[in-house]
Amino acid sequence: MRQFAVIGSGPAGFYTVEALAKAYGANAHIDLIDRLPVPYGLIRFGVAPDHQSIKAVSRRYDKVAEEEAVRFVGNVAVGRDVTIAELTTLYDAVVLATGAPNDRPLGIPGEDLPGVVGSAAFVGWYNGHPDFADLDPPLDGAAAAIIGNGNVALDVARILSKTRAEFAGSDIVDHALDALEGSAIRQITLVGRRGPHQIAMTPKELGELGHLEAAVPHAEPGDFPDADADAALDLGVRKSVAHLRDFASPHEDKLKHIEFDFFARPVRIEGETRAERLIVERTSLDPNGNSIGTGETYAIPASLIVSCIGYRTPPIPGVPYDDRGGKFANDHGHIEGGLYCVGWARRGPSGTIGTNRPDGYEVADRIIAAAPPGSEGGKSGSSGLDALLASRQVRPTSFADWRTIEAAEIASAREGAPRSKMVRHDDWLKSLGE
Ligand code: NAP
Repeated sequence: MRQFAVIGSGPAGFYTVEALAKAYGANAHIDLIDRLPVPYGLIRFGVAPDHQSIKAVSRRYDKVAEEEAVRFVGNVAVGRDVTIAELTTLYDAVVLATGAPNDRPLGIPGEDLPGVVGSAAFVGWYNGHPDFADLDPPLDGAAAAIIGNGNVALDVARILSKTRAEFAGSDIVDHALDALEGSAIRQITLVGRRGPHQIAMTPKELGELGHLEAAVPHAEPGDFPDADADAALDLGVRKSVAHLRDFASPHEDKLKHIEFDFFARPVRIEGETRAERLIVERTSLDPNGNSIGTGETYAIPASLIVSCIGYRTPPIPGVPYDDRGGKFANDHGHIEGGLYCVGWARRGPSGTIGTNRPDGYEVADRIIAAAPPGSEGGKSGSSGLDALLASRQVRPTSFADWRTIEAAEIASAREGAPRSKMVRHDDWLKSLGE
């Protein structure tokens, strides 16, 4: 019997477990460990609440969690309740699927002012992540700036723009829904340090901005190269740029405005006691498509500034780390000995949810090569973990516990919503009778 532990129950963790369960069948036991009492990681806490069709992938993960060889072990934090060294002693292989939950810092003066938040915090707030339930972002000013031209920036712009009615059918948490309904923000500026051809936004997500009830997107016609130049772009970017070009033509005015401010590099954030404005430097592109400053600066008024410039994997003491890439140092998912990583913790924060499937299968292949199915194991695995946790008074949650929590969330859902998420540890554990 082989014993495996996968740390983190987001997409990368689930696909790795799926691959291992398929390969080993009854010859392995796999513990899927998460620091939160509930599963799904990015699917529950990262994917936008109004993108329920994307979240539906969790149904596939449920089948994995319910396999005989697999056990969900929630409410167990590596580093707090158990160490990596203990896990690598207990299991034949340990896979870090811990994602990239930390915001990349902007690295500019003023980023610590109140009103400046990273996307991990802001997205976590409206998605009910317990770490950010009390974020209380300032929505009392008229203007917000969103830094970055990726899909997360689009998510944030859309969530700031939607009316209460447009959140019908979503699982946005009540504290965010109420706060957003009372928001005074009317001007949302999406700040990109490069141009329309260099965006990291995908067409479907960009197209959604054109169909908002109370907000209209706008791009400056002068920011675009000649239309002929679009032909050289990859199909996806070409479709996205077509949306942007449409936003540059006149549209019916609405209450809120989403402005694309291209060629604008953030240089500092100013304000007396809280963020009041983002100072940017006008840029142009060098022949390699990199942004270079022109020396001309101007201010974008904003009392809420959300930085959506990517994420980093938190280092774990003793685990080799690639500081530049913000991920674990690894060779195709192998860190050292029986320690592996997968997903964003392996390759950095890029790609779609589906990208994690081949990633998980590839890492599983490396584990299979090192510990072929049918070969001798002998490690204590789950029974060793259980003993350790019991000795430390840690109460893990099981997948059956999650089903109980899920039933309570469904039972208390707003009309038309799929669930009403519990957002605090205590509420989860209370719903289990703890
Ligand atoms: P991303 O796609 O990597 O975009 C990051 C953006 O931040 C880029 O426009 C980048 O510009 C900009 N940026 C980086 N450093 C900056 C700085 N110092 N100053 C100003 N701008 C800076 O990251 P993301 O939006 O966080 O998304 C992460 C991943 O999740 C992506 O693969 C994304 O597609 C995926 N995602 C998908 C969906 C969806 O499919 N619905 C939703 C959300 C996220 P440069 O290009 O100039 O570096």
